[in-house]
Amino acid sequence: MNGLYIHIPYCLHKCGYCDFNSHPENIEESEVYVTALLSEIEYYAPIQTDHSVPTVFFGGGTPTLLPPDQLDKILRRVKDLFNLTEYCEISIEANPATIKRETLEQIRGSGFNRISIGVQSFDADELKLLERVHNEEEIHTTVNRARLAGFDNLSLDLMSGLPGQSPKKWKSHLQQALEKNPNHISAYGLTIEPATSFYKLQKHGLLTLPPEDTQLEMFTTTIETLQSAGYEQYEISNFARPGFECKHNLNYWDNGEYLGLGAGASSYIGGERSKNINLPSRYIRAIQEKGCAVESKEKLDLLHAMGETIMLGLRRLKGIHIAEFETRFQISFKKVYGNVINSLLNDELITLNHNRMALSQKGIYLADSVIIKFLG
Ligand code: SF4
Repeated sequence: MNGLYIHIPYCLHKCGYCDFNSHPENIEESEVYVTALLSEIEYYAPIQTDHSVPTVFFGGGTPTLLPPDQLDKILRRVKDLFNLTEYCEISIEANPATIKRETLEQIRGSGFNRISIGVQSFDADELKLLERVHNEEEIHTTVNRARLAGFDNLSLDLMSGLPGQSPKKWKSHLQQALEKNPNHISAYGLTIEPATSFYKLQKHGLLTLPPEDTQLEMFTTTIETLQSAGYEQYEISNFARPGFECKHNLNYWDNGEYLGLGAGASSYIGGERSKNINLPSRYIRAIQEKGCAVESKEKLDLLHAMGETIMLGLRRLKGIHIAEFETRFQISFKKVYGNVINSLLNDELITLNHNRMALSQKGIYLADSVIIKFLG
């Protein structure tokens, strides 16, 4: 297995744009939730054929809402029952409003060696609009304390294309982020997802995203600013200093196998995708009754599996290694996708070099419409 994901579904407050599986903080329930997670780890460990784990990722929700001793307990159980490889990347997502100095020291001491801090914006009005519960000062103290606690691998999450945001304001966020000298930056554009409060606001004309050309300008600014500061754009929205690419996400984009534990977590093992129950209380009950909480499973057929591998692989700037793809699926790449490739090459949206297919400079800006051609 190439990665282990652990989902902690609690947050202080549901942000207006969030469609992740997050639920209001519930201290009583979260204690039982941790017990359920420990049982789920015990359930899966003996039935995995491959116990070596090169990456572990605690995501959410807000994992740092759990007390550090609970996080330690979960990670210890993982270490006891799986074989974490020598340079295993152990990441945790953190929200600046929820993390104290002692917590950072304790989780670093437990073995977490990478922290991803959800900054999103350095502007008080934008943070309020996003319904984030932290303020600018907490961003600075959290980053400084994380460094002092020994997190040498630190990532910041930023969000562009907010209502009313100008390219100049966005550039100032990038510059402030760079001043914190992170090893990695994820910079996503705001998208409005159904079932969020932003969706309802947009539907009623109460929330408007910047025009497309402004969003494009911000994306160009992101690439130029971060590349000139020494960060490599290794995925459409992810930038890293050499050697600090997120291994866990690289495995997703390679369409590699992973085991997901916790409410709503997904797994991809042996060509089968499965997903756990979303609601924490129902997840807990299922674990107590059956040991596992899978609510849906899907075995991918060949065409579907190949399409997903291309969809994910093209997000990486180095693209897809064609010979590896052919070995994996025992198929001729050109035979299946020859027509699509020719048309995309004609439109200069992809490149074919050294047995790799990748998005071109132009294709990066139109990634979604390029990728969809391989899914038809
Ligand atoms: S902190 Fe993250 S997971 Fe929690 S509600 Fe906000 S966006 Fe969603």
